[in-house]
Amino acid sequence: MTELLYQMDSYLQSFSAMVTALDEENHAVALDRTVFYPSGGGQPSDSGILSIADETYPVIRVKKTGDQVYHYLDSGFPLPGVGSQVQGKIDWDRRYKLMRTHTAMHILCGVIFRDYGASVTGGDMDPLQGRMDFEFETLQRELVDTIQIAINQEVMNAHPVRVKILPREQAFQIPDLIRTKINLLPEGIQQVRVVEIVGLDLQADGGTHVANTSEVGFIRVVDYKSKGKINKRIYVEVED
Ligand SMILES: [Zn+2]
Repeated sequence: MTELLYQMDSYLQSFSAMVTALDEENHAVALDRTVFYPSGGGQPSDSGILSIADETYPVIRVKKTGDQVYHYLDSGFPLPGVGSQVQGKIDWDRRYKLMRTHTAMHILCGVIFRDYGASVTGGDMDPLQGRMDFEFETLQRELVDTIQIAINQEVMNAHPVRVKILPREQAFQIPDLIRTKINLLPEGIQQVRVVEIVGLDLQADGGTHVANTSEVGFIRVVDYKSKGKINKRIYVEVED
């Protein structure tokens, strides 16, 4: 099982670990602990490097398989053996942009639910840009500016962002979590990681976030699209 160091401290950039398993077909190594975020919840995986003895291995993709995180290495390098000690370092510039973008998406969800009662149904992001889908029948062109002003107000309000890991039964009693379809969590999951933008949004979420909404910077609503009568997609960009 890989210990997910980024879950309680998303600001960690480097770490030491041990190789616990190999996936030779995919040229990947599992580690006993990691700060690399494997893709999930709309947030793409981190990139970076693993250093083993004098060799530096570029990490091109990261994926969670079962309870192990596999780090896919550049195929030009031979795989290290199980038991090797490694030093890891993520591409912090990319990761911090993803943290700011991910928190921007939660601000958008929180504001749209608070102001219009519309629930989010999905989303996807890249560094500094993202899109979210809502059940939002009344979304029209005129609302785009209003939404942009409201979300940037919440950036300026500098809400703290807190992460907690709660027992399943306790999480299932929080009304805000029930609306974000926490009931879809697989039965076997006993611990629920919760990301709270204090006073604005609370979600079961595995991603990495900034510690305060003021770190996000200006969010631009660049476009929206109808995906049917009820389903609407909103596109945002975060300033560089
Ligand atoms: Zn999220």
